[in-house]
Amino acid sequence: MNRRVWAIAATAILGVALALVWLGAPGVGVPVLTYHHVGEGPDWLYVRPADFERQLVYLRDNGYTTISVMDLARGLSGQAQLPRRPVVITFDDGYEDNYTAAFPILLRQKMQGTFFVVTGKMGQPGYLNWRQAGEMIGGGMELGSHTVHHYTLNEINLKELERELLASRIMLENNLQGSAPIFANPFGETAPAVVDLLGRTGYQAACSSVVGLNRPGGNLYMIRRLSVPASRFGLWEFRARLWWLNLKGRLGV
Ligand SMILES: [Zn+2]
Repeated sequence: MNRRVWAIAATAILGVALALVWLGAPGVGVPVLTYHHVGEGPDWLYVRPADFERQLVYLRDNGYTTISVMDLARGLSGQAQLPRRPVVITFDDGYEDNYTAAFPILLRQKMQGTFFVVTGKMGQPGYLNWRQAGEMIGGGMELGSHTVHHYTLNEINLKELERELLASRIMLENNLQGSAPIFANPFGETAPAVVDLLGRTGYQAACSSVVGLNRPGGNLYMIRRLSVPASRFGLWEFRARLWWLNLKGRLGV
């Protein structure tokens, strides 16, 4: 091969290497992950405990630090400094396995989680009770509201909506010392009517199910998340999901 061919080949290799570095670099913004169950179960909502722990270890090994939703809100609004690679681990619905399975794993890995509970279901079979939730706060976890009844919020009227937001926050405050004024929308996107009411009902931040990273200056009542379903292909699947999320963030879509 002559010199010119070598030069072209070297440039191409360098180009591919740079592209791979760029594609694999963290995205611009903070990822917030959504889990539901941690345990063996019949559907995609159940992440096996061993998979969950592997995912946490992967995050830590890759320089991520878990923070709470309140820390994220303070960081994004410029009131506090965020760590170098922050990540938020959230759980929706307040299932009992959040206490029996997820909580001990988070403690063991010295990482933090945020649990959004349906206050009207606390203490029912399969759900957390107030004592367990209190113990989780004592262990450094964050607890917030996921409404009273888990209705689809755009199917109820404004009065009911206000009651769902206000009553769940007050119930959390009355039953749990140290709960946070944060909210997670039960299904999908947070509607404008919900965003309007969140501030007036005393919330400081809210998570949606819109996929994406979170950047400074973004709407704190529309925090974007990435759902982590049951893993079928091991850790690679989790890594691919995170890679895709970061790529999306880098491309700004
Ligand atoms: Zn839910």
